[in-house]
Parts: sequence; C-alpha cells; structure tokens
Amino acid sequence: MPYDSSLLETGKQFREACQIVLDYGFSEKTFNKNKLNRGTYREVREKIPTLPSALVQTARDTASESLKQTKLAKEIHRKSYTIRYDRRTFRFYPDSHTISLTTVKGRLVFPVANSPLIEKYRGEYTNAQVFIDTRQRKMFVMVQVEIVREVENKVENKEIRVVGIDRGINNIAVLSNNMFFNSGHLKDVKGRYRYNKKRLQHAGTRSAHRKLKELSGRERRFVLDTNHAISRKIVNLPFDVFAFEELNASGMRKKGNGRGFNHKLGSWSPYHLEQFIEYKAEDLNKSVIYIDPKYTSQTCSKCGYRDKNNRKGSIFHCLNCHFELHADLNASRNIEVLGKSEYFRLLSTSQSLRSDESMSTDMGETSNKPTPSGVGS
Ligand SMILES: [Zn+2]
Repeated sequence: MPYDSSLLETGKQFREACQIVLDYGFSEKTFNKNKLNRGTYREVREKIPTLPSALVQTARDTASESLKQTKLAKEIHRKSYTIRYDRRTFRFYPDSHTISLTTVKGRLVFPVANSPLIEKYRGEYTNAQVFIDTRQRKMFVMVQVEIVREVENKVENKEIRVVGIDRGINNIAVLSNNMFFNSGHLKDVKGRYRYNKKRLQHAGTRSAHRKLKELSGRERRFVLDTNHAISRKIVNLPFDVFAFEELNASGMRKKGNGRGFNHKLGSWSPYHLEQFIEYKAEDLNKSVIYIDPKYTSQTCSKCGYRDKNNRKGSIFHCLNCHFELHADLNASRNIEVLGKSEYFRLLSTSQSLRSDESMSTDMGETSNKPTPSGVGS
C-alpha cells in the first residue's frame, strides 16, 4: 500500500505499550492480566497518551500471552509493529471491501483487496491483526472469522438417538425404550451374603473372621461384576446419548430416596453404575448427559401435566389425561426428553462446533490511496 502514516504511528505506539508491559511482567514475574494492568496502566497512559485505551488493552493481552509463552524465562524485545484488534476496535465490511480500524487519529476506514476467501468465509469477524512491514513499506490485515456451523448440519441426516435412564431401588435401571434392569438378583445375592456374614460374626472364631473377610471381598467383586455387566449391556444398545438424572454430591438422587438405596442394596450405589456407563460410552464415542431430576417423577410423559399426586407407588397415573404407566418408565421418558434438549443445548454452545479461520488480505492493493476517512466509533 500505500502505507498509511496514522496506522504506522498506531503500530509504533502499540509496540511501545507492549514493551512496557513485557518489561514489567518480566521483572515482576507475572503474566496475570489484572496484575499487569494495575502495574502498568499509569505508565502507559502517561508515556503514550494518544494510544486509544482499547488498544492499550489489546497490547497488554498480547504482552501477557508472550510472557506466558516464554514462561517468563527471558526478556522479550518486541520488534514488529503488529497491531491486534478485537471486536471493539475494528469492523470488517466484506461487501465494500473495507475495514474500519481504531488508530491514534481516531477510527479510520481503509480499503482492503478483494479476496476469494472473503466470499468463502462469512461469519462473525472476531479478531484482526494489522501487520506492518516497515522495510518493504507494506501493510496487510488478517481478519479472523468465526464460523458457527449449524447444529443441523453437524448431525447431518443422522438422527441422534437418546435414551433416558431412571435409577431406583427395585429397578436398578429403567430405560425409556421399555427395558428394565431389576435388582432382584442383586438383592438375593446380597441377602445371602448378609445372612452368612451374620452367622460368621456370631461364631467369632479366628477362622470365622478370616472367612468373613473373604466373603466381603467376594461380595464387592460380585457388585462390581454386576455393574460391569449392566453397564456394558446398556452402552451397547443402539443409542448415541444416555441421559441420567444428576446425582447430588453424596452419590444419591436429589429427589431424596438415597436412604433406601443404602438400606436395601448395601454397598451398591447408582453412582458406580453411572461411572461405568460413562467411561464405556466414551470408548464407543457415545455421550452421557445429566439432567435436573426435578419433577421427572411427577410429570406426565404424555401430556406434560405435573402433579405430586400423579404418582402412586410404582404406578404413574396422570390426573389430567389419565395416562397410566410404570412410574419408573414414565420418569425415564421424561429424562429422555430433557436429555435430548440438554444434548442439543450443549452441542450448540460447544466450542468444537466453532472453527476459527483466518483470511488475510493486502490492504489497499486495489487502490493507490487508502483515503482514510473518519467514521464515528
Ligand atoms: Zn397426562
């Protein structure tokens, strides 16, 4: 280009601000942005009063990152006149091939060369960097565009299959696809262990004590094996997402039937089953989602009506639409619906869906004069 003197001056001041922060960070051994700000703000303002404060900030961020990169191991002398811009300090207009930038002379508009990339990548323009090559007297700008791919595109034609899983005492797990894993066998075996243990405790002899220890070990392994078997069966089902109710810190359901678990199933905990499913699902590239357990057992999975009295023991009977179903199954269907919406909510906010792409374009290559014109900021 046609090199712009205001931009060059901005680049110089930006570099100076960076250097003050770099020196301070190095001597104080910190790259913490707040500390850098407190320690250098005044000096930067006094020495470089014409640098806009938003650029003072991006200069500080730039310096902080360099300090972090070098792990504060060596002094950094910034040579380049690269200026970093963020959402507040630049605006890119792809249709008119212009960019407005904050400079020491206020906000100025510059033409940028046309580039096929501009057409290819449309999205939100989040960051920009202006590179100034003083030797070749050239400037160019790189604009970063954030493309938010639509969730629908991502899951392309592939229906995401979600299953809701309700955990309980009589049924270890009830799945919204009508599968029940009951605790009958688990309870029987546990009962047998309990009986044998009591007998041995009664005997009180040394050999009984040894046997007791042995028995406890065997019981633990049995519970472990049961959890492995159930979790394997569940994750191998043709579902992509397994939705559970979130447990509270003690591993119990927030709804509050935790005491029952402990009493009836001894050391068996729904928390372990959930963990097994979680890591097995991960191996298969499937997801586990947790939802808020509030009202899942009181809400009708057919009409959505919520009432405490909808549930009578193991039977769910909707007082509104008179739909009737096994109570755990009804809950699992609510969990499925909530799980599905939670899955898509996480998907749409997830970083993995965003991709940053950069495009660079020479500034002012199309016109001989950048004809900076002021625009309000
Ligand atoms: Zn209903």
